[in-house]
Amino acid sequence: MTEFPIPRAALLDGNALAATIRSELRDDVADFTRRYGRPPGLRVVLVGEHPASASYVSGKTQDARAVGLDAATVALPETTSEAELLALLDTLNRDDAVDGVLVQLPLPPHIRTERIVEAIAPEKDVDGFHPENVGRAFTDTGGLLPCTPAGILELLERADVATRGLHAVVVGRSLIVGKPMASLLSSPRYNCTVTLTHRHTRDLAAFTRAADLLVVAVGQPGLITADMVKDGAVVIDVGINRVDDPSRERGYKLVGDVAFDDVAAKARLITPVPGGVGPMTRAMLLRNTVQAARARAAEP
Ligand code: NDP
Repeated sequence: MTEFPIPRAALLDGNALAATIRSELRDDVADFTRRYGRPPGLRVVLVGEHPASASYVSGKTQDARAVGLDAATVALPETTSEAELLALLDTLNRDDAVDGVLVQLPLPPHIRTERIVEAIAPEKDVDGFHPENVGRAFTDTGGLLPCTPAGILELLERADVATRGLHAVVVGRSLIVGKPMASLLSSPRYNCTVTLTHRHTRDLAAFTRAADLLVVAVGQPGLITADMVKDGAVVIDVGINRVDDPSRERGYKLVGDVAFDDVAAKARLITPVPGGVGPMTRAMLLRNTVQAARARAAEP
């Protein structure tokens, strides 16, 4: 019997594309620095000792320095009050050498996250979480886009995925991924027909099977199995989950929300985890900082 090779999706390689974008940004940063006599500035604020946050923050600062940004972490103790954090943000908002301000989430429970997000000057809000930037994304009026949806759109654009007319199904409706993703894909720039699903969606599989473009941002390993995916779909796996793996020294491995091997045999394009959306999210933070610096420098 002849054995036919199992068709396998091409990888949307976020590591490779993020490296390309960082090298483009190095040129942009050098150009900005020549023109304005200083590099774009980024301040990353970390409150408390959350272990994952500390490593995210140091990764962001290192990435930023590697492309030539003036980047620093401001680490505050867990006991920092909301008023003290607001005072720091006020100082950073007024500092002309600072173009981007990011407060790492989650914050300790005694600090109101919305209050903090809203206190960052919208033109310096490089996470794109301030209501003004959320509104701008929603109304297609510029502003700073949230990094994860922006990274996904960049992956699609640079892989020449023609999104016009596709049925995009987004699984998960968080404010940082699912909702803005659905809004952006339905905008006149991408022209998808979008279905936004969540925990209360009845018969999730009926929707995912109808997706030409499937974006999954839930946080449940293996949620999307091959029988839930259309042949030839483009699959974007945003999820990052730790699952036990005694064969590894650290005792776990990272997986997405999509059963990768089985789904890759059906999809046309798929993002791996790790190495797909994650590195693109980090690269978009750097791009937002350069965008914020240019916009501020161009102000009268
Ligand atoms: P949230 O927990 O904020 O949102 C998860 C969403 O998934 C919710 O809208 C929830 O619905 C929905 N959901 C939960 N269970 C189901 C289900 N069984 N069927 C359909 N929908 C369901 O998560 P985030 O958006 O912040 O993150 C999602 C995942 O993406 C996480 O693994 C996170 O680590 C990862 N992530 C990765 C990033 C990257 O750069 N790669 C960046 C950001 C996040 P409901 O609203 O009804 O509760």
